[in-house]
Amino acid sequence: MTDLDLSYILNELGEDRDHYFNAVSPPIIQSSNFSFKTTADLRSALTDEFENNVYSRGQNPTINILRKKLAALDGAENALVFSSGVAAITIPMLSLLKSGDHVVAIENAYNWTDNFLKKFLPKFGVTTTFVAGNDLSNFENAIRKETRLILLESPTSFVYELQNIEAIATLAKKHNIITLIDNSYCSPIYQQPVKLGIDLVAQSATKYIGGHSDVIAGVLTGSDVLIKQIFENEFMNFGPSLSPQSAWLLIRGLRTLPLRLQRSFESTKIITQWLIEHRAIEKVIWPFSKNFNQSDLAHKQMKGCGGLFSFSLKDSSVEKIEKFCDQLKHILLAVSWGGHESLILPSIASLSKLNYSKSIKNAQLIRMYVGLEDPQYLIDDLKQSLNNM
Ligand SMILES: *Cc1c(COP(=O)(O)O)cnc(C)c1O
Repeated sequence: MTDLDLSYILNELGEDRDHYFNAVSPPIIQSSNFSFKTTADLRSALTDEFENNVYSRGQNPTINILRKKLAALDGAENALVFSSGVAAITIPMLSLLKSGDHVVAIENAYNWTDNFLKKFLPKFGVTTTFVAGNDLSNFENAIRKETRLILLESPTSFVYELQNIEAIATLAKKHNIITLIDNSYCSPIYQQPVKLGIDLVAQSATKYIGGHSDVIAGVLTGSDVLIKQIFENEFMNFGPSLSPQSAWLLIRGLRTLPLRLQRSFESTKIITQWLIEHRAIEKVIWPFSKNFNQSDLAHKQMKGCGGLFSFSLKDSSVEKIEKFCDQLKHILLAVSWGGHESLILPSIASLSKLNYSKSIKNAQLIRMYVGLEDPQYLIDDLKQSLNNM
């Protein structure tokens, strides 16, 4: 695949403006079905719902514009879009795996990915070995003759563990194993796993691609062969399709994706540095901080870094963590990330207060997402809350 210019992808690719009055913004083709002049035409269209507009559970012109852009952004042959990020991760697994197969997956994957591997796939006779992703030999040792899939997420959220994507992709190819990665953290602007040899790349488009906290969606990119196989089977059968309205919101999000990421990246550099120097802060974990333990790998395989990081307070009693989060005036207390607004999410929010102990790994972490506000505005908010503790 030759690389297309990023500006061309985001502003022109897939958009046949002369088909719709030369409107600059594409139309939302809010139609469930498409009609044909003759039975022969209909019959011919039905032979390939992957290519033809027949029914919007499959193909739709607004969605098609989005798919072309997303495939090109990843440097992949093809793309599918889903009604959530989690569907873009689980549907390919349903497609690739059958009873008796084995998966090697990283520990600390996104919680619903983890849940799918631990609770759902075993019902169908698929087993998983979980490995620490920072060491290639862990993958080598976990591979068996039944291993069909290696599942990665780099960096992970909350602790930001990286995997050496290129080395693992090479290992997988040697054993004829398919690789699937969750690339939500970086988006294709900062990391392109297809170019490092990965077969399938999933993303929660709810995060950076949408970018305005108003749509839930997912993306999967890969080869024509794999994407078509998933489309014709599990995609059409489970029906995790995106609505044309949501696809339009994602196309709009793509127009400013590089700008928003750059802003988030630059502000995060400033804010993490400010936090590291604050006397109430114990540690900051962000892949592009100087003291990050996988800094070399981060700079090797990522062109930039997302605005999601974690930190802990020196006094990480449950009361102090709650007080700090509750006193913030502008930074919102919420799940998700990737939108215009900055967010805070303490790990303790998913633990019962009684079960909290500082010795539980990572329980003291507070995750922050840096949105598009002025970094000084965010620092002032962090400062007033830290000083009032
Ligand atoms: C949010 C998220 C998902 C799930 O995406 P949804 O769009 O919420 O279904 C998967 N992986 C990561 C890393 C995420 O942050």
